[in-house]
Amino acid sequence: MKKLCFGTLATILKNCKTKSITQKWLCGTLLLSVASTYDVRSDDGTTSDLVKGKKNLSRIVTDAALSADPQDVSEFFKQNILQMLDSNKRSLIVLALKDIIASDNAIEPDTIIEKVNGMTKETISSRDAFVLEDFLAGIFLYTVQNVENRNCEDSVKEVTDEYIQSFNDEKDKISFISTYSNFSYETANEISINTRALVLLTETGGKCQKCSRVLGIKKEGNDVNYAKIVRLSETDEVVLCVDCEREIQNASLEEKIALISEKHDLETLVVAREATSRYTIEKQIEQVLREVDLMDVTDGTQLKIQPVKVEKKIVEKRLKERVLFDVRRLYQGVNDALDRLAGENKLNVDKFAKNVKRMYEDANESQLSQSAIYNLLVETLFEKTGRKYREACEIIISYFVQRCEVFDEITK
Ligand SMILES: [Zn+2]
Repeated sequence: MKKLCFGTLATILKNCKTKSITQKWLCGTLLLSVASTYDVRSDDGTTSDLVKGKKNLSRIVTDAALSADPQDVSEFFKQNILQMLDSNKRSLIVLALKDIIASDNAIEPDTIIEKVNGMTKETISSRDAFVLEDFLAGIFLYTVQNVENRNCEDSVKEVTDEYIQSFNDEKDKISFISTYSNFSYETANEISINTRALVLLTETGGKCQKCSRVLGIKKEGNDVNYAKIVRLSETDEVVLCVDCEREIQNASLEEKIALISEKHDLETLVVAREATSRYTIEKQIEQVLREVDLMDVTDGTQLKIQPVKVEKKIVEKRLKERVLFDVRRLYQGVNDALDRLAGENKLNVDKFAKNVKRMYEDANESQLSQSAIYNLLVETLFEKTGRKYREACEIIISYFVQRCEVFDEITK
């Protein structure tokens, strides 16, 4: 089993050091980063036992590590350790450490492994860009403070030169940066937001289902009033505040059943709300379509008969998502409205489709981007139907994109 300890970390570094540096010098210098008076750089026996995972680190080192400023340790690594490493092997070091951290089952996903920036096991797994000195110093601190180094011989033996070279094909995945910008760190936090909690919070209107306290999504440094997902049966989860979560553990079966039943009502409510808004928008679509017949037809282009999938037609990712969202939600609604109006002789669907295609061709000649054309078509339809319901116009254009009157299929 792979295990993150000082021995495995030092062995990876040893395998990736420059030729002129000895193992004991590298190992001894690592320890100087926290304990500046503990110098074993010339001590073959001690350094060898540590690198091989045979013995624990001296109390002098572990005690010093607890009070060390992580930023200082990182600065020390930058000044003294990085130059001892073969610069062609930096990515291999990171890939091997990522692999060991990910496969060390003794480490929980939310355990902080990189102690300079407070990166958890999970965050490290999901990242590919690192500040190398922070990464190494942060992991070094973790191994010194948290992991016993003795009895790690078997894990160290797995860290062979072959093992490290096995990451050669993935080298390009790793990039090095000089600092983690606040932005990227914030973004990483945002992404880790629990989407299940978001869904449940939408149903409860952002509140604890039991006591109605307003809840947020958990972020670091915010331990109160955040949403806790509590599983009450095989299939039922509710969202509660921390206090109610504690109480519900001892609640009677009746109380739990009542909470589940209320949760089902909330689900129904959300579905009903969604249906009402769909009803409103469908009404608006019909309204728009009732007015488009006034648009004149001057073009007799033949329409394509086979609809082509949206995926094939649109290259711009954002636009694609947008159109697919509209289409999934309301394709049938637009179709029905078109049929109904055609039945009432209120709208000549072919004529209208030809018009949309014509508008597209005019726009296309001007070499606009797909989203610019899309917006132009929406704007034109909106304009020509009395500027009433823009969202309905967007959906109608999306419908025609799907029906293939707009956007040439991209040849793959
Ligand atoms: Zn509560």
